[in-house]
Amino acid sequence: MTNIIDGRKIAKELNAKTKERVEKLKSVGIIPGIVVILIGDNPASVIYTRNKHRTAEKLGMKSILRKFPKDVSQAEVLQAIHHYNDDPTIHAILIQLPLPKHLNQTELIEAIAPEKDVDGFNSKNVGKLYNNENGHYPVSCTSRGIMTLLHSYLDKIEGKNVTIIGRSILVSRPLQSLLINENATVTMVSLHTDNIDYYTKHADILVVAAGKPNLIKKDQVKPGATVIDVGINRMANHHLVGDVDFDDVKEVAENITPVPGGVGPMTIATLMQQTVDLAEWNK
Ligand code: NAD
Repeated sequence: MTNIIDGRKIAKELNAKTKERVEKLKSVGIIPGIVVILIGDNPASVIYTRNKHRTAEKLGMKSILRKFPKDVSQAEVLQAIHHYNDDPTIHAILIQLPLPKHLNQTELIEAIAPEKDVDGFNSKNVGKLYNNENGHYPVSCTSRGIMTLLHSYLDKIEGKNVTIIGRSILVSRPLQSLLINENATVTMVSLHTDNIDYYTKHADILVVAAGKPNLIKKDQVKPGATVIDVGINRMANHHLVGDVDFDDVKEVAENITPVPGGVGPMTIATLMQQTVDLAEWNK
């Protein structure tokens, strides 16, 4: 029997825990605060930022959705980041990616104070994750959300063979570090890899973050594997599909995420979790 990994349910449970933590903080006079910065009008980014903003409000946090036109200058965005870095009512700053081409993404992410860098993309936080440092630091929300899903369905990660398709800085590389830190054996494959099927067929856990609709079919998957589909692809008919051919692969997988309703809800729930983490760590 295949388990359909229910990201919506797990995200709801995580949000309930986060709400309790928000209330606890409020009882000692701290309201967790998040600012989500949206630049331009990319339709997917508009939807994602609205969902993040509304979820934060629903959980009782202070939430600001700061919008800039797509031709905003680098200096103006930097000024806003510095402003929120200095604002004690804001614990978390997120810049919705991707950015318009004229902006320097690295400079903007590095400008976020590491203790407010809720997506964990600042090099200080990336370095701590890479070094498997003890202590508190935020990590990529999507990657941590995937770890939460895996822990909900698997007894342990240690010793598992994991193949990640894609090597992005936003999802795949932080996930690689999180998995290695839990003693998994991790292989990263990309467009530059020969014979990708060799690696996918040996994976106890297959994570697909390629951004290619229905890329993975059942003959590429080890029977009994856990399959995590990160891809979000909007088709011409406006339907969302993942990178995994769900109906095909669910015949062989033991656990599999649907799209939508798998990884997506976990990204937002983890953002909320990490906003409260930052408020607790830096009070
Ligand atoms: P990306 O789009 O920056 O890069 C894609 C990677 O996949 C590259 O490393 C490329 O080499 C590799 N790749 C592409 N086609 C391949 C193929 N045919 N075979 C092997 N490798 C291939 O990666 P990203 O930012 O991690 O995004 C990947 C997907 O995940 C996108 O669909 C994106 O929308 C989605 N995403 C979802 C969430 C979420 O919350 N669910 C969050 C972030 C990204």
